[in-house]
Amino acid sequence: MLQNKVGLVLGVANYRSIAWACAEACTSQGAKLAFSYQGDRLKENVEKLTAEMADTMVLPCDVSDQAQVDQMFEAIDKKYGRLDFLIHSIAFAPREALAGGYIDTTRDAFLTALDISAYSLAQTARAAKPLMREGGSIVTMSYYGAEKVVQNYNVMGVAKAALESSTRYLASDLGPDNIRVNAISAGPINTLSARGVKNMSSMLGVIAEKAPLRRNVEAREVGNTALFLVSDMSSGITGETIYVDCGYNIMGI
Ligand code: NAD
Repeated sequence: MLQNKVGLVLGVANYRSIAWACAEACTSQGAKLAFSYQGDRLKENVEKLTAEMADTMVLPCDVSDQAQVDQMFEAIDKKYGRLDFLIHSIAFAPREALAGGYIDTTRDAFLTALDISAYSLAQTARAAKPLMREGGSIVTMSYYGAEKVVQNYNVMGVAKAALESSTRYLASDLGPDNIRVNAISAGPINTLSARGVKNMSSMLGVIAEKAPLRRNVEAREVGNTALFLVSDMSSGITGETIYVDCGYNIMGI
C-alpha cells in the first residue's frame, strides 16, 4: 500500500507510543520513514526502535522551536527529495492542568497546551507542503474529550477541539494541492502521555464495560487506521475525524 512512499512520524517516545504503532503499520506496507524525537532524553529510545529499519532518519524536533522544525524538513528534503505523508502524534499539557477543574487552568498552561497540541499541526503542515510535490496525506491524533467533557482532561480537551477544527481548515487550505488532512479520535490507550491524565485506569475500565465491542482499543488498531488514511485507499477522505474507539462515542445513557 505504501511502496515508494516516504513518511515522517512525529511523536515516538517509546514502543507504547501511538506514533510507533502507526510506524509499524506503515513500514509493513513498504513505506520509508523518518522520525523525530523531542529532546535528548528520548533520542536513544527512537534510535533503538528504528535501528533495524532501512533508509530511515531520526531527527531532533521540539515543535516549540521553529528552527528545529525547519531543520528537520530541510534534512528530509535533502535525503529523500519528497514527502508523501506526515503522522502528527504529539500533545502536551502541564500535569497540574490535567486534574481538578478546567476553570483553574492557568494562562501559561492554556497557551502551552494549545501551542504544542494544536498549533503544531498547522506549523508542521505548512513546512511539509512544499515537500508534498505529488500530493500527500497528513494524519493527527485526537480524543473524545474534544467534543464531550471528560473528567480531568480539561485544557487538553480544548486543545483537541482546536486540533479537530484545524484539521478541517487545513484540509480546505491544502485540498487544491491534493494534500489530505484527517484526524483519528482514538480511545484511551495506556501510553506515557495518557498516564499524565488523572484516573486514566478507571477510564479504561468504564470503556471495557460500556463500549459496543466491550474492550479498549489497541494501538495497533489506531496504527492500521493511520495506514489507511495515509494510503491511496482513502483518497476521497479529507477533513474528517474518524473514531477508533471500539464504538464508545456512539453510546448514550
Ligand atoms: P506518547 O507519550 O507516547 O506520545 C506523545 C508524544 O508527544 C511524545 O513522543 C512526546 O515527545 C511528544 N511531544 C510532546 N511535546 C512535544 C514537543 N514540544 N515537541 C515535539 N514533540 C512533543 O503518548 P501517545 O498516547 O502515543 O500520544 C500521541 C498522540 O495521541 C497525542 O496527540 C495524544 O493526545 C493522542 N491520543 C492519545 C490517546 C491515549 O489514550 N493514549 C487517546 C487519544 C489521542
